[in-house]
Amino acid sequence: MRYRWPKGRQSAAVLSFDFDAESGFLFREPEKAKRSLADLEERRFGPRVGVDRILRLLDRLKLRATFFIPGWTVVNHLPQSKRIRDAGHESGAHGNVHEAVAMLDQAQEKSVLQQQLAILKDQLGVVPAGYRSPSWDVNVWTPGLLKSHGFRYDSSLMGNDVPYEVTTPEGPLTEIPVQWIMDDAPLFRHVYGATNAIADPGRVLQMWSKEFTAMHGENGCFVLTCHPFISGRASRVALIEDLVRFMRKHRGVWFTTCEEVAQWHEKGKRS
Ligand SMILES: [Zn+2]
Repeated sequence: MRYRWPKGRQSAAVLSFDFDAESGFLFREPEKAKRSLADLEERRFGPRVGVDRILRLLDRLKLRATFFIPGWTVVNHLPQSKRIRDAGHESGAHGNVHEAVAMLDQAQEKSVLQQQLAILKDQLGVVPAGYRSPSWDVNVWTPGLLKSHGFRYDSSLMGNDVPYEVTTPEGPLTEIPVQWIMDDAPLFRHVYGATNAIADPGRVLQMWSKEFTAMHGENGCFVLTCHPFISGRASRVALIEDLVRFMRKHRGVWFTTCEEVAQWHEKGKRS
């Protein structure tokens, strides 16, 4: 076996949701955010409709998922953030105002990290085990900052398709890897001037099913990344449901959270 999963299972699968709401837009385009109600409302679909639709889906499927939530989103959409927590899902850190860390120096990034940790603790009583960088943007010093701030894992890098370690001056940090194939944004999000068209959910179901089947054969860790303002749309929630039902036809899939994968990975290293 390429990677050993608990109880002899063949692969792991995590549904992860990045609950950005308006935060990424506020950080990247602060001037436009002062006037563009259209852009703001597109993103407000997440807290207004998407999150609860996804929570109902997870409840129907009896699945725990991992939500990565920026500090700004926790403060401005606290009831939804509490419902995520209270439904038993994992809450991880995802920037303060969804900062693209490539635009920050090390001191600024450290300060942003401390702000988001304080908000998660104060507002939700959550000390997150995991971090997902906004836009999967990671500096060479980021893993060391995460390690020194008590994070157990990061989930933003693409260097493998099973859990691995990133070397930092503070010791190794567990990485739960992601990949573009399994991100809803490039498939479904309309961006003027971008080359990608809005994908047919049927085609995406086929693509993600094929990726899952192949990853299952490779003992992989299948991490799906979706956004409530993008995948909270009706046909896309139906797509996730169809995907999970397809995955459940396979034997030996461990449906779990990023945190549990990280715990397992650390245990495996010790034994
Ligand atoms: Zn995000």
